[in-house]
Parts: sequence; C-alpha cells; structure tokens
Amino acid sequence: MDLRPHHLLCTQGYGGKGYSGEFVENMNRLTDRLRSGEPVSIRLKFSTDDLCTYCPHMLGEDFCRTNEKVKRFDRKVVEYFHLEEKEYIYQELVEKIRKEITPEMLADICAGCSWYPVSACKEKILGI
Ligand code: SF4
Repeated sequence: MDLRPHHLLCTQGYGGKGYSGEFVENMNRLTDRLRSGEPVSIRLKFSTDDLCTYCPHMLGEDFCRTNEKVKRFDRKVVEYFHLEEKEYIYQELVEKIRKEITPEMLADICAGCSWYPVSACKEKILGI
C-alpha cells in the first residue's frame, strides 16, 4: 500500500467521513486493513497515494487541488519524525509517531485541515 506522510495521521483519526462516497468506501477498506492488528507493509511515498486515487480533489499525479497545503502537511510529518521515502511496517510507524508526538506538534502539522476539528485525531493519535 502506498501512503503519503500526512496520511499516517489521517488513517488514525479517520471516523467514516470523507470527500465522496467512493473516497469513503476506499478509505474504509484501507483503514480496516491497517487497523486489523496484522502488520501491514507500506511504501511511504512523497506524492499521490492509494487514498488520493479515489479522491475527487486529485487532479493528477502529485497534483492535489490543495497541493500547497497537503505538501506542507507532508513536509512537517517527514521533518518531525525523520521519515524517508521507503518501505515501513505501518503499525511500527504509528507506534513511533504516537510515542514522539505532542499536542503542539499535531496542531502545527494539521493547521488548516478542515477534518482536524471534527475528526477523532486528537483522541486516536494523542490518546486524549
Ligand atoms: S485532498 Fe489531496 S492529499 Fe487529500 S486525499 Fe485528496 S488528493 Fe490526496
């Protein structure tokens, strides 16, 4: 599975709402797999990923309708957690992020995201 850096957070906070029916269906399928408890190998990709593929905002490869914003989310996740464009086990990465992240870091990364105030990101990622 290809995941872009900030989607390491979105896949934790996701609570069933999304940009379209097709997007939600795909997101449900992917998050069911990632949350099943079985280790899932992912390829961290600094570009369009398997969530973007079904998103109405994807205009092309590495070209989101809100590209400047999503690239900023990605860059901050990469910098805070020292990530590289390579294969990881999703559950190991999530564990590392949950150990290292602070409320200030999450608020900084997700500033400007319309889902952040209404999703379960703080609860799932910070445990509060
Ligand atoms: S809004 Fe942009 S970054 Fe987010 S899933 Fe859609 S295409 Fe991908």
